[in-house]
Amino acid sequence: MGSISSPAEAVARIAYLTSDVVISVQPSLTVDSEFSHYLNQYTSKQIKNLTSRTIPDIQRHRQNADPLLSAYKPLQEGKLVSATTSSAVLLNSIPHLYKLAQQPIVLHVALATSQADFSDISSIRQCGFTFLQSETLQDAQDMAITAHALAVRSGKGVVHFFDPSNSLSDTPIAPESRDVLQTLFSKYIPGRPQNEEDEYLYVDSGRIATTADLPVSGVSPNQSSTTSVLQSQATRDVSPTAGTTETASSVSSRRHSSTDSLPTSSAGTSVDAPVARPVTASDIFSYVTDIWSVFKELTGREYSAVEYSGPPAAEAAIYIFGSTGVFVDVLDSDDCPADLSNVGIITARLYRPWLGASVLLDAIPKSIKKIAVLEQLRRKTTKWGPSFMDILSSLNAGANGQNQIAIVQYRLGQIDAATGAQALRGIFQNLTPAVSPRSHQKRRGHSRAASLPIQNLSIGHETTPTAVDLGAEQPEAENAYLKILNQLFGDRLYVANQAKANNAGISASIAASPEYGFGSLLARIEHRERFVQEVQQAATSKQFITDAPKQWLARWALSAEDSAKSNQNAAEVIPRLANDGSSLASSLLDNKALFYKESQWLIGSDAWAYDLGNSGVHHVLQSGANINMLILDTQPYSERAVVDATRRKKDIGLYAMNYGNAYVASTAVYSSYTQVLQAMIEAEQFSGPSVVLAYLPYNKENDSPLTVLQETKKAVDLGFWPLYRWDPSNEKKGEPTFNLDSERIKQELEQFLRRDNQLTQVMNRHPQFAAHLSESYGSEVRKMQKRRAKSAYEALLDSMQGAPLTILFASDNGNAEGLAKRLAKRGKARGLKTMVMAMDEYPIEDLTSEENVVLMTSTAGQGEFPQNGRAFWEAIKDATDMDLSNVHITVFALGDSHYWPRKEDKIFYNKPGKDLDVRVQALNAKTLTPLGQGDDQDPDGFQTGYQEWEPRLWQALGVANVEGLPEEPPPITNEDIKIESNYLRGTIAEGLKDVSTGAISASDQQLTKFHGTYMQDDRDLRDERKAQGLEPAYSFMIRCRLPGGVATPSQWLQMDALAGAHGNQTMKLTTRQTFQFHGVIKSQLKPAMQAINKALMTTLAACGDVNRNVMCSSLPTMSEYHHDVHAVSQKISDHLLPSTSAYHEIWLKDDATGEKTQVAGDAVQDFEPMYGPTYLPRKFKITIAIPPHNDTDVYAHDVGLIAIKSKETGRLAGFNILAGGGMGVTHNNKKTYPRTGYMMGYVPADKAHLVCEKIMLVQKDHGDRKNRKHARLKYTMDDMSNEVFKAKVQELLNPLDIKFEAPEPFKFQSNIDTFGWQKDEKGLNHFTFFIENGRVEDTADFPMRTGLREIAKTHKGEFRLTGNQHLCLSNVADEDKESIAALMKQYKLDNTKFSGMRLSSSACVAFPTCGLAMAESERYLPVLITKLEKCLEDNGLSQDSIVMRMTGCPNGCARPWLAEVAFVGKAYGAYNMYLGGGYHGQRLNKLYKSSIMEEEILEIMKDLLSRYAKERKEGEHFGDWTIRSGVINETTEGKYFHDNVAEEESDAE
Ligand code: SF4
Repeated sequence: MGSISSPAEAVARIAYLTSDVVISVQPSLTVDSEFSHYLNQYTSKQIKNLTSRTIPDIQRHRQNADPLLSAYKPLQEGKLVSATTSSAVLLNSIPHLYKLAQQPIVLHVALATSQADFSDISSIRQCGFTFLQSETLQDAQDMAITAHALAVRSGKGVVHFFDPSNSLSDTPIAPESRDVLQTLFSKYIPGRPQNEEDEYLYVDSGRIATTADLPVSGVSPNQSSTTSVLQSQATRDVSPTAGTTETASSVSSRRHSSTDSLPTSSAGTSVDAPVARPVTASDIFSYVTDIWSVFKELTGREYSAVEYSGPPAAEAAIYIFGSTGVFVDVLDSDDCPADLSNVGIITARLYRPWLGASVLLDAIPKSIKKIAVLEQLRRKTTKWGPSFMDILSSLNAGANGQNQIAIVQYRLGQIDAATGAQALRGIFQNLTPAVSPRSHQKRRGHSRAASLPIQNLSIGHETTPTAVDLGAEQPEAENAYLKILNQLFGDRLYVANQAKANNAGISASIAASPEYGFGSLLARIEHRERFVQEVQQAATSKQFITDAPKQWLARWALSAEDSAKSNQNAAEVIPRLANDGSSLASSLLDNKALFYKESQWLIGSDAWAYDLGNSGVHHVLQSGANINMLILDTQPYSERAVVDATRRKKDIGLYAMNYGNAYVASTAVYSSYTQVLQAMIEAEQFSGPSVVLAYLPYNKENDSPLTVLQETKKAVDLGFWPLYRWDPSNEKKGEPTFNLDSERIKQELEQFLRRDNQLTQVMNRHPQFAAHLSESYGSEVRKMQKRRAKSAYEALLDSMQGAPLTILFASDNGNAEGLAKRLAKRGKARGLKTMVMAMDEYPIEDLTSEENVVLMTSTAGQGEFPQNGRAFWEAIKDATDMDLSNVHITVFALGDSHYWPRKEDKIFYNKPGKDLDVRVQALNAKTLTPLGQGDDQDPDGFQTGYQEWEPRLWQALGVANVEGLPEEPPPITNEDIKIESNYLRGTIAEGLKDVSTGAISASDQQLTKFHGTYMQDDRDLRDERKAQGLEPAYSFMIRCRLPGGVATPSQWLQMDALAGAHGNQTMKLTTRQTFQFHGVIKSQLKPAMQAINKALMTTLAACGDVNRNVMCSSLPTMSEYHHDVHAVSQKISDHLLPSTSAYHEIWLKDDATGEKTQVAGDAVQDFEPMYGPTYLPRKFKITIAIPPHNDTDVYAHDVGLIAIKSKETGRLAGFNILAGGGMGVTHNNKKTYPRTGYMMGYVPADKAHLVCEKIMLVQKDHGDRKNRKHARLKYTMDDMSNEVFKAKVQELLNPLDIKFEAPEPFKFQSNIDTFGWQKDEKGLNHFTFFIENGRVEDTADFPMRTGLREIAKTHKGEFRLTGNQHLCLSNVADEDKESIAALMKQYKLDNTKFSGMRLSSSACVAFPTCGLAMAESERYLPVLITKLEKCLEDNGLSQDSIVMRMTGCPNGCARPWLAEVAFVGKAYGAYNMYLGGGYHGQRLNKLYKSSIMEEEILEIMKDLLSRYAKERKEGEHFGDWTIRSGVINETTEGKYFHDNVAEEESDAE
């Protein structure tokens, strides 16, 4: 058995074992409380509680975020609730305490400070709770048990408090056995109260715990006669408020003067006639006595309401309300002073209700004549302490006929071990002063004066009450909003309750409180109003010496409330006043800050200023003052279900809108930065209160921005956190007052708001319906629909012959559904009465009456059921009375046996299908044919297993040998789609008009790629939307065609505008040197395409099985040469552009006029002279590199051109041509591999476009059109050999008189960009910006997009996008350089001081938009590099360029296989690691580790980097070193990529 060494541990354990919900109050979500550490341990071990055999719900709340607010909901649901907290929260929780006192909740309170402050307890003694006190470690465990038992027994709240420092040196105790707890609780739990009443938060529901709520308990055998007396009296004295302890206390104390004796019928003493009456103090005493008596039987330990320790015949005792440890130590010590050896100690175990004299007198020896009452009285104004009054009121009348006991009060200060004995002696000298007769006492008239003890003596060091600092810590994440406020309002910004602000004489937590801030703002506003009046008067005064001030003061006063004008005028007024020199001028200048109008804000934050989120808003609105409130809500969307509605700040917006006088905005910086800007500006301009609700969801204060972003997206997308702005002043201007900014879900959101409104109204009128309203409506309708669908099917089937076959599928991506439907068709062709539907569409109650059933399911997530089969599985899984003995069932499961990289996760493969199979057999189903399994990894994918299973099924059904079955059409391939598309038209135009879905058809999805756009869905939202029954959040990615990556400033501005108007406010500069836009919804697709074409760019052939964007080195240092080479890239691009006019017809035709708008290129007709109707077998990529820069990775493309400079002219002469490079790979498929290009030879520059064409045509005719995974040029060349391929190309070139010559010499030095300023040969300047992973966006820290927009407005040269996703500002004349540099500085764009590794890194898009992503990439690589930078620094490698790349899947968009170190996504959070790529992109890397997670990545990298730093030779690059040092083998050719790897891919194990 383990041992328990602290009271917090003892208490946490008991709270955990005896509660359904534990409210764990913590200093912050990242800082544990003394209890939470243990609670977390129990939860992580999945320990169940003893009362309901479930894992308790541990709800973590910050101590300053009104934690007890969360107690109501679970209490209402009849759950057992406890809270573990420090005493710091008690005073702020008083409004809750009065209400919670009537609920069976337990609050375990550790006194907060090092000098435990018992005054927190005495301050709340009247709140109606029962209070139990612990002194020792053993007490803490036993009183925790008592508290829980008592709360359940009494139905009332119990506060169990203790001073942790009092038991610091206690020896560890054994944890109380579960048997004891079980025995004790089994007595009370079965009848635990169910509270069916609705609770109201700010209005008392009037609930009073009554005896009728409670399980009836027999009379305790040990119940004392005193108890009976107490009960009889209490019963008689019951009043409507008798549940409060203070009343009870006076009742019990009055009782002693009473002589009458009424008959006893208390529920506490009788089992015959329970009477519903409020629980009284005497009931509590009875219950607790009962509990302790059982407890004593079980454990041998004894407790009582008042406890006495000391000599049985002591005459004096001290009653302590405070820490007893020091006194006990002195009195128990071997060298206890003789004069103290006859002293007892009294404490109240049951502090409230105070039970009066008889309980007290029963507990102490009759010999006691004097009691010293010691308690903390920290406030000087308090003369008599509550404990003193308790004892005085109980004993002053000489109760029970005993001699009067003298009572003396002491103010208890801080006493330590060294002063304990002295303090005690002082107490007793005063308590029993020596009576020494005075010689002249007769003359004094008060002979006994000298023997009277002095009241209110202070003992120990006096301590003064300190305001408890609840930790006004502002989490780092909140800075995003505060930075925007600072950016917008700069010096004018005044945050009245800033966390950590310096306010003289005021504690940090008070200064940060909204109440304080609100008060200070009102004072500031009034102050300025008075100042404006003074200025108005001064403007007409004759006291000025000069004339100028008057005129300017009048002008200033006129627009004093207009911040822009008043601040402008202030700058004019102040110097004129200063020049004037009159006394009036200097008195105005004394307040010169008031000439400026501040932007005044109050901030409400869950972390440090919680209460503004509740009633605080009401006060500001009511004041009507021109105050702006920024209220942060940090509740993550995914926790919404467990959080009671009272914590949702979303509704503050509705409340404020209803109030009518306020500007209201709901914003989320991680969803729309610009909307936050707009809302803050509008709020500031609004005359009156403004509320800006700001969403910032996090689970812990140190959550990564990526987590916050993902949570925000979910919440915004699904309408939990709608983005909107409400400006009532717009009504006067005739403009809409309400603006919905959550663009993509406009319709859904409007419905949401409407429904929310209606429901709120109905619920207000009929609160009893609240919980069930929407759900019951929904499920009724669903049930009816299911029934109707099935009846219709049955009617249809009735007309058919043959055995019935019911096919039920669960499918997420359509495979299982498609297969099920095909099976149904085939069954029908065999004469069976087949019915097919999704599992969740099927009325489960009919399953027992089916004859033959096929269950077909794919596998989701971690072996879960697909969404449309979950309800079916839940029903069948939990069914206890379902008998399937008359049903023949077979199951077919689909999955991917290699999907889970880790061995231990392999069990998830086909888990739903396997589980179903086992379950139906357990329900006695007959097996139609054994389980079939389809594996994506099999040679023909899932078809391999299916083709074996299906014949078995027909065999079992007796329809295996049916003759004359119709021919089935073969599945449609990409090639069919192309042929059928009428030159890429398909049904795209029709699909765009369909507003019922955000998607387009599957075949159109293939075709739109040729038009430069892909359909995607937001991966961050996919699961959540599915759960909500919504279609995925479809949007489109648009990619431009921008040969050589060169754009004009005007094109930049137009792209920027497009990102704002139609996209997701960001632009991606891609690894193929072009612009890419994400998040364009279907309705915005056409306008976006038109905007791109208006900018004289196109998207045609940016994706698809055609030649894609042609790349070209950005070469800032040689502009003339760059110009020559870039012209060739443009020429190749134009030459290989498809000719179809479908693009113009679909995207550019004006629907109203039928006219086509501006067209880039001159494609006009519908035939493809070069491509033909089937275009190419796969995508085709061409790039040009200009040595010594391989910044476009020339070896990685289908065609790579290496520019060769003429030695004579210094201009472009021709190109060395490479062919057959390519990156895409499939994990675990060794038939796929990356490949570097094969050197074909040299050709002159003016023939390059023709050579590219002929290479492309050989690929067109010889590429594999059956297997897309084997269709790229690299495989064609390896299949036919490089030489044969070259000969075929040469054959086509011969008629043009073009011949491949021997390659010209060239040398590459690197494949990365050179950042910062460079000068070209013409003296023009070029600046290469570091754009991390090509993402151009604004954030609160770095307004990059705005900065580049401002630069584009003045720039006269070019923007060159680089192949590494960075940006070069080209052709800046010397005279413009200064102004451009100033703008760069202003927007922090001039920063290129990053580690060499960061500057040499790149990542693909991956999550959330790329549908193929298996792991994060663009959002994760920067984080990973940050974690490595310290190690780089430690090894002196900060400035060394190490090429590191990451992609979210093996398609290789960021060309990872050429990097010195690469990470390729395998599953979420897991990557394959590759090493050994060539520094300038000339050599492929090789697999080093498979499926590793961050921890291992960091460990490996740190080790390699430190070795590299020590072992490298002069100038040796990291990739070369890994090969030389034997860390990895060299990959010499693509086809050997999988050979000699450092370890096999994990799935192969
Ligand atoms: S490499 Fe894969 S995850 Fe990354 S963008 Fe390309 S397809 Fe998407």
